[in-house]
Amino acid sequence: MKKGKKIYEGKAKIIYATTDKNLAIQYFKDDATAFNNQKKTTIEGKGVLNNRISEYILSNLSQIGIKNHLVKRLNMREQVIKLVEIIPIEFIIRNVATGSITKRLGIEDGTVLKEPLIEYCLKDDALGDPLISEEHINAFEWANKKEIEKIKKIILRINDFMIGMFRGINIKLIDFKLEFGRLKVNGKNEIILADEISPDTCRLWDSMTDKKLDKDRFRKDLGDLIPAYTEVAKRLGILHEQSNISAVNVTKLSSIKKRK
Ligand code: UDP
Repeated sequence: MKKGKKIYEGKAKIIYATTDKNLAIQYFKDDATAFNNQKKTTIEGKGVLNNRISEYILSNLSQIGIKNHLVKRLNMREQVIKLVEIIPIEFIIRNVATGSITKRLGIEDGTVLKEPLIEYCLKDDALGDPLISEEHINAFEWANKKEIEKIKKIILRINDFMIGMFRGINIKLIDFKLEFGRLKVNGKNEIILADEISPDTCRLWDSMTDKKLDKDRFRKDLGDLIPAYTEVAKRLGILHEQSNISAVNVTKLSSIKKRK
């Protein structure tokens, strides 16, 4: 399998075709964007950490039977994925209210929700990913009713698993975003989890201190994003405490690779 042409470039990732028509390569960039692309920068080493963290979470989800697009990680910044038809919806799952929902509905920041709340946003940057309802999804046929019912079940399993996984390393899973795709298997469409799960797409707070260990460090100009993502990776056991793979080394390694 060889890397081919760029198929798609998003804000944080690039998808390349491969010589296998069913597979693609997902490349994690260092670019960070927020507020519908109004705030942008490059944070060296972010892509390397997200590649590793997302690989770890998706492999674990696979082990509990949640089908997803990850085939294997290739190197520091790339993974082989199954090419799917992406459903044009961002599924937001909230356990604690923070971010856009607090502004939109006047809910106090940090309110613990009595059960997980799923919100749907249309994946359309030009429109600012507007909030939509299940009725909109039906009306405009972005997904059918059966698909949404299936996705909701999968989402609740993923949420339960991830809450437990993060609780075990003293991190609270506040909210996160998922994307799903359709994959033809024996002539039938299957729903599979796609995209990434990383501190770019989750809100993660330290259980004791509520310190933000996610992209809010960039959104809110809190600084130290790489040390926070590195902390998540270390607690997950991806980077070892005793090893020298510090944020600085992640940065160095990724720039060495780039110079080649
Ligand atoms: N999120 C994401 N991509 C998006 C929008 C949201 O990964 O395009 C994630 C975000 O990181 C957070 C959750 O979804 O973990 C809920 O985000 P919210 O709607 O509060 O976003 P905000 O507008 O506050 O960034």
